[in-house]
Amino acid sequence: MEKIVSLCKRRGFIFQSSEIYGGLNGFWDYGPLGAELKRNIRDLWWRAYTQLRDDVVGLDASIIMHPKVWEASGHTTTFNDPMVDCMVCKKRFRLDQVEPQTGTVCAFVGAVSSQYFEQLVALIQQAPNRPAESVPFALEAIKRLAGAEAELASAQLLEQLGVAPDNADAVAILNGIRACLARTPPVSVLVPPKRHIDHARHKAQRFYQPWVGESCWPILGQAQPVTEDRTHCPEPDCGGQLTPPRMFNLMLKTFVGPVESEENVAYLRPETAQAIFAQFKNVLEVSRQKIPFGIAQIGKAFRNEINPRNFTFRSREFEQMEIEFFIRPDEVVQKVAGSVATYSPGMDLSRPQPNWGWELWHRHWVEQRVQWYESIGLGRDRLDLHWQTPDELAHYAKACVDIQYRFPFGLQELEGIAARGDFDLTQHQKFSGKSMEYFDEEARVRYIPHVIEPSAGVDRLALALLCEAYCEDEVPDEQGRPERRVVLRFHPRVAPIKVGVFPLLKNRPELVAKARAVRDLLRPHMTVFYDESGAIGRRYRRQDEIGTPFGVTIDFDTVGQDPRLRDTVTLRDRDTCRQERVKIDELVRLLLERIR
Ligand code: ATP
Repeated sequence: MEKIVSLCKRRGFIFQSSEIYGGLNGFWDYGPLGAELKRNIRDLWWRAYTQLRDDVVGLDASIIMHPKVWEASGHTTTFNDPMVDCMVCKKRFRLDQVEPQTGTVCAFVGAVSSQYFEQLVALIQQAPNRPAESVPFALEAIKRLAGAEAELASAQLLEQLGVAPDNADAVAILNGIRACLARTPPVSVLVPPKRHIDHARHKAQRFYQPWVGESCWPILGQAQPVTEDRTHCPEPDCGGQLTPPRMFNLMLKTFVGPVESEENVAYLRPETAQAIFAQFKNVLEVSRQKIPFGIAQIGKAFRNEINPRNFTFRSREFEQMEIEFFIRPDEVVQKVAGSVATYSPGMDLSRPQPNWGWELWHRHWVEQRVQWYESIGLGRDRLDLHWQTPDELAHYAKACVDIQYRFPFGLQELEGIAARGDFDLTQHQKFSGKSMEYFDEEARVRYIPHVIEPSAGVDRLALALLCEAYCEDEVPDEQGRPERRVVLRFHPRVAPIKVGVFPLLKNRPELVAKARAVRDLLRPHMTVFYDESGAIGRRYRRQDEIGTPFGVTIDFDTVGQDPRLRDTVTLRDRDTCRQERVKIDELVRLLLERIR
């Protein structure tokens, strides 16, 4: 992953937001190539659904909406994540993302200053009735000083030491120890298997320093083996105790208007979907669509994620591509078509049929979306379909499939496709008081449409495409010697730059003029990068590293006298490094065939 992150920065795909000020966690900026990559993703999605299908129309809604929208959708009350903090390293986690751990939990009852501890040991060593094993005895005694037994333990300690109860030194030391323990809260540390228990003491020392200072002695109460533990920090070198979970609403708040009062609170949308529901009636009226039909939207969404991580995978500002596809409830399908088709493996899901109920529509969209991923270079074998189990499903959902991709940090969701019933429109009808019903002329009934929701993230997909494309291999250099190269094997459809154009030498005006003419010829049709500096091999490598699928080189034959070669160029393929000689007149057609 580090290599991909560093390539992204080096070549201008993705930068940390506000980097010059130290960055802002969970926010990212896309540089020149990243901006092109994202634009390609959006354009391909938009074209596939709103332009190449008759039954989906587009919407571009505002980011801030009436706060009632979020009450109706349930986001105000239920868009919460349980948040926990590590008491030692202070890192914050979403409780459901803490993996269960095994090890030994060391529970400390508090800590004392090492200075008191040393004084006590010295006192024991000077005491008239000093026991043989004085240091362990002192340790044991201090341990017993914890909690409610402190008074009793200290009295016993004095007695065992043979120190007169009114010995001023002993009293002062013991009071100091007791005060330390009273001020320091208990904490526990999980020690992974095979690690020494000293690990826990070091972590506890770090925890207690603010109370007791640098040199402190944590008092171990008990050590217990555990399995499936989720109450300790998952960071590999920590294991500190996690705080009890607190619920945390993920919506980012703002105020509309000059007064920062409760009535003016508004939210940056946490998903694009709700605007589609809120505008369902307007779009229905103007688009002259009939159920089944869908509304598509691409736009920014914001979530105050507790723990943004894995580069852009979980960000606080990101972009979604969502479709709400409205369908008849199954009872209405039954009424119109006489029956509701059921799924059987291998059936053709590409052509919608009048007898499709929610189950087949849902499968249709899963299949459509997998095919779309295939068309941009994420083959079926690279994806995993996770059918949510009943206990994972939202209470209103009938089914949900997560399309997952194996990122270098694990198998993770790229897109969710949910059958949401009529939950959303019913909620908006209830909260707005406006009817969300649809009159179905064929069925002669009125109903609230049901919905299938394919919901994907642009940024997650851009990251998956980068991970999928990244490759290191060896290719022959100009002298035919093997040379290592980094190459992004983007599908040409998503590649930020489609073709590099190179004059063989930059100090030959006839080559440069011709190369510029080729660049101008291609530019209206695709993104072109013109490069005349450096050895040609170096120029190829630079384009390989940013995933440019084709390179066109203008050489002496292009401008020479041989009529068979004049006005031809070499066309190089990024992946095979093979070059073919093609006519300049043919270039646009040939390239368009390969990049579309
Ligand atoms: P997760 O469980 O990973 O938090 P989610 O199930 O809450 O995600 P949805 O609400 O279904 O996600 O959002 C749909 C899509 O939006 C996701 O599949 C993902 O591609 C994208 N997405 C959601 N949250 C983020 C985020 N914080 N950063 C980047 N993309 C996101």
